[in-house]
Amino acid sequence: MQCWKEQLAALEADGMRRRLKVVEDSQGPHVRIDGSDRLLLCSNNYLGLAGHPALVEAAVAATRNFGVGSGASRLISGTHSLHAQLEQRLAAFKGTEAALLFNSGYAANTGILQGLFGPDDLIFSDALNHASIIDGCRLSQARTVVYPHTDVAALADLMATERPRRKGRWLIVTDGVFSMDGDMAPLAALCDLKEAHDALLMVDDAHGTGIFGKRGRGTAEALGCLGRIDLQMGTLGKGLGCAGAYLAATRAVVDILINRSRPFLFSTSLPPAVPASAMAALELVDSATGAALRRDLERNRRLFAGRLAAEGLNLFGSSSQIVPILTCEPRATMAMSHALFEQGIFVQGIRPPTVPDGACRLRATVMATHTPEELLWAADLIGQTVREAGSC
Ligand code: PMP
Repeated sequence: MQCWKEQLAALEADGMRRRLKVVEDSQGPHVRIDGSDRLLLCSNNYLGLAGHPALVEAAVAATRNFGVGSGASRLISGTHSLHAQLEQRLAAFKGTEAALLFNSGYAANTGILQGLFGPDDLIFSDALNHASIIDGCRLSQARTVVYPHTDVAALADLMATERPRRKGRWLIVTDGVFSMDGDMAPLAALCDLKEAHDALLMVDDAHGTGIFGKRGRGTAEALGCLGRIDLQMGTLGKGLGCAGAYLAATRAVVDILINRSRPFLFSTSLPPAVPASAMAALELVDSATGAALRRDLERNRRLFAGRLAAEGLNLFGSSSQIVPILTCEPRATMAMSHALFEQGIFVQGIRPPTVPDGACRLRATVMATHTPEELLWAADLIGQTVREAGSC
């Protein structure tokens, strides 16, 4: 077996070694790194709620009243009233009978798929689904058929081919907003298809929750499908500015997960500060402030993506606040990220295995709290850097 130092050297030689960047203050539109201010263009704190006073106050009050640690896993003694209240609030937010908290989006996707599906079942999974969905499919032991990205016609063909030998349950699973391409799943067409085949539909709305739809209910609201999605997963650590994740579904689904989902069963529950601040975030999402933040985010994304597109850059069909810029090769991508960093812009380069070979990118994310001026400045600098590198 190759030793770990050799593996690291090989990663380095291929331009694939990853290193951590340490942020020295809170996640605003700017952050301090290595003592200097940088424009932050790679945070999922899309609405700027992570440092919002209402969330901070809720977290502080909950910590005073309930302590820092939750003390145990949910089924032992780690279900506090704040966890239960947030679950009720999330079910109401999504219009479902029940909701269940998970410690992270990764734990949710692995835990939902493992807890609900088994070897007799068949999962149809979009080719660009998040790694946690891929790992959840593996954990479930269900047979998984990967369909070409957002290609409903190809999925319909695959389902028709599988139909004669159908045994157990069928599930279609997709990101709502794709985390690396920033495009949206064709949810209405997927709903039609799953209904025609008596299948279930699971949507991971990590990047849509709080952001899309008139009331911030997510991608399903924006695409007119609320109420048609069987398993609505979302995260609390991105648009909502906190941590953790949830599934909104029927009471029976939630109850079976409480009994079977290993990431739920065997992990200490979220600290009380998290459900408290998540409830404050949901209140903001429902308020005029939330609506204004969504409008600012949409304005910023159009401005930023519009400027980059006008410069002739390939943005992968993004239609969200996630704006990837094609840069192709790993080494050139990291050199561009580094050059931008030196000029005051923090935008991460993304390489395989997170994205396919040859599809490296600078993955920029826009926040409601960026100013139009700084986004236009950044778009121009990114455009110039990518054009000069000419790596594709
Ligand atoms: N699903 C998607 C689509 C994601 O982008 C992410 C996070 N990058 C997750 C799930 C995992 O969420 P968390 O960070 O809360 O584990």
